[in-house]
Amino acid sequence: MMIVMKETATSEEVQAVIEKIERAGALAHPIEGARLTVIGAIGDVEQDVNIESLGLEGQPGVDRVLPILKPYKLASEQIRHGERTVLDIQGRKIGGDHFALIAGPCTVESREQTLQTARVVRDAGVSLLRGGAYKPRTSPYAFQGLGVEGLRLLAEAKAETGLPIVTELMDLRDIDDVLEVADVIQIGARNMANFPLLTEIGRSGCPALLKRGLSSTLDELLMAAEYILKEGNPNVMLCERGIRTFETDHRRVTLDIMAVPILKELSHLPVIVDPSHAAGRRDLVLPLSLAAAAAGADGIIVEVHPNPDEAVCDGPQALLADTFDEYAAAVRRTAEFAGKALSAA
Ligand code: PEP
Ligand code: MN
Repeated sequence: MMIVMKETATSEEVQAVIEKIERAGALAHPIEGARLTVIGAIGDVEQDVNIESLGLEGQPGVDRVLPILKPYKLASEQIRHGERTVLDIQGRKIGGDHFALIAGPCTVESREQTLQTARVVRDAGVSLLRGGAYKPRTSPYAFQGLGVEGLRLLAEAKAETGLPIVTELMDLRDIDDVLEVADVIQIGARNMANFPLLTEIGRSGCPALLKRGLSSTLDELLMAAEYILKEGNPNVMLCERGIRTFETDHRRVTLDIMAVPILKELSHLPVIVDPSHAAGRRDLVLPLSLAAAAAGADGIIVEVHPNPDEAVCDGPQALLADTFDEYAAAVRRTAEFAGKALSAA
């Protein structure tokens, strides 16, 4: 259920409602909007905590009590009354009228490659730097990432460029190390349904970029986001990165561009698009990026490399560092066309 407080409700009245919900054994999630506060009251579905019987309708400060219609309660558009969630990552806003360009290497390979790429993307005006220190690879014999040394290099790149860091967490045993460096934790497509991982990221409070699984539906993606939100972490972005379809001859997977407007209709969370992993080919990255920005995406995450022929991972899809500023300018223009400003410090 959701309890819509009156615009005039005091913080004591909000608190009294929260306490009543919690005494009944349900979770209370207050969400402060620009005008009013909504409290999500979420009971254990199996235990069937009956919020309706609490008589909240008549309580001071309460305007209305309504059922939340979707199974993803806190991720649903309904709970925010049409307001968009806007994340603030060290002054870079994502969501609403703000567009984030997130760029960097697939993986941290060396100090030189990481710092060189970080400088190029900073000069082109990106919002955040991406780079993996732990890599989910199909083959156990492929490069698995530099681990803690990779995180150290990302910290160095951040210290030099001032760019906040997006980096992947795959294994809960690494969470403390990753949290020291990450401004945003990436949850890779293969881990979208790793529920204990999602719960711990929720508990950490660190902003999360949650990628859609290769064969996951949009509802499954939203339920995965719910695992993070449920722990009291409201800072979640959804990421469409391509799904498996029958078409495999000419690209890696199929970018589901329709996911952008549909997710934005179903949820208040920002929607990011990853054209690099969908395409698997550099030449498709620009057109897919422009399509995503025009479709209303709140950001793009792309891979860049100073010398893709020598990249240890995902070289064929990496944008060239040399021409990255032209790419960034085209994305910026398209985002502006769609009514959003590129987010920078
Ligand atoms: C990545 O971003 O480098 C990555 C491996 O992405 P995904 O989980 O979408 O495959
Ligand atoms: Mn990659």
